[in-house]
Amino acid sequence: MPGEALLTIRGITRRYGQVEALAPIDLDVARGERIALIGPNGAGKTTLLSILAGVGQASDGAVVWAAGSPRPVGWVPQQPALYPRLTVRENLRLFAGLEGAADADATADALIARADLGEFATRRASALSTGTMQRLNLAIALAGQPALLLLDEPTGTLSPDQRTRLWSWLDDLMSDGEMALIFSTQFMDEATRHADRMVALGGGDEFMRLARDDA
Ligand code: ATP
Repeated sequence: MPGEALLTIRGITRRYGQVEALAPIDLDVARGERIALIGPNGAGKTTLLSILAGVGQASDGAVVWAAGSPRPVGWVPQQPALYPRLTVRENLRLFAGLEGAADADATADALIARADLGEFATRRASALSTGTMQRLNLAIALAGQPALLLLDEPTGTLSPDQRTRLWSWLDDLMSDGEMALIFSTQFMDEATRHADRMVALGGGDEFMRLARDDA
């Protein structure tokens, strides 16, 4: 169950000229909590996630971490952020090093075990199936031992079977309640099954009602 506060989002917005990419949002996130961001295309889900990841800037508002200083965040964007010509192990070693791991080899091995990537360790990332590549993306995001994992439509490109397998692995990963998770999705069933609560963005309430009626 979600525990004490991890971060507080107050009045975060993003504007591009006249375009309001993200309407003001307030959100409290607890340690270990799993939140689904729901909303139609263009609602601002990616915008919010990228601000939380530190790769996008808010026009207004603040993100305050409970400890008073930013905590490591693991970020999995929609487009794979890895090196296709490197092997699975080489990618993980590289990102472990970038995250400042004292022993990048040992960290890479631990991530391979955690993401169940053992049989693919020496395979180039470009040769992986879509589902396995997504698991590698997730393993990369775990390299810095994040307190918060951010996933932008993690199953958007996966087949129904791959979606099921990825969620089974993710549910396992989250089960110790150590990490919080915020993910965006177009699938209501994912949101209801794998999140503690849903947050609707940009007309998302109506989107949620229509999606429920469809289900
Ligand atoms: P999707 O489900 O399609 O990924 P989303 O909910 O993630 O949608 P965002 O990608 O966050 O939505 O975009 C929110 C709005 O901001 C959209 O109207 C988009 O066109 C606009 N937007 C995003 N980035 C920029 C940019 N760099 N310049 C101008 N407008 C932008």
